Amino acid sequence: MYIKYTNYSDGIHDIRLVKKSNEVGLEKPFWGNVIVECKMDKSASQIILDCDMSVHGKFVCDRCNELFDRELKSHFQLTYLFTKSHAISDEENVFYLSPDVDKLVITNDVRDYGLLSVPMKNLCSPDCKGLCPHCGTNLNYGQCSCEREKINPVWEPLLKIKNKLN
Ligand SMILES: [Zn+2]
Ligand SMILES: [Zn+2]
Repeated sequence: MYIKYTNYSDGIHDIRLVKKSNEVGLEKPFWGNVIVECKMDKSASQIILDCDMSVHGKFVCDRCNELFDRELKSHFQLTYLFTKSHAISDEENVFYLSPDVDKLVITNDVRDYGLLSVPMKNLCSPDCKGLCPHCGTNLNYGQCSCEREKINPVWEPLLKIKNKLN
């Protein structure tokens, strides 16, 4: 995934890059295309790339164990300087662009930000009802018969807290 910056004049340009997720190193659970929308601000001394990326992943819900699709978004900024400077090595996402390079290759950045965008917690929906602890019925699809008998109303407030924690 790259931008051939020598094709662009100084100024601001909107560039949209699309590539299959596995071609930038985002393997399962990612699937489909990675879409990166970049705003490129090019001047005589530097290029600033401001990127919004989006990719889809298939995850298993932590509560109901169903596979679901989720869009993952991230935002990052990359700066390329045309002159070498000591600041470069200290700062994150700042690179020196040597005169013989005509492309901004962002494959690794897209891969890294994609991996970072995977959440620790996966819920198919914020109010997923999960599985019945007794019979395993997916309560998103309907109630099971054991539900009402086993849950003593006294425990209901506690169960609500438990569900919130899950
Ligand atoms: Zn769920
Ligand atoms: Zn049940």
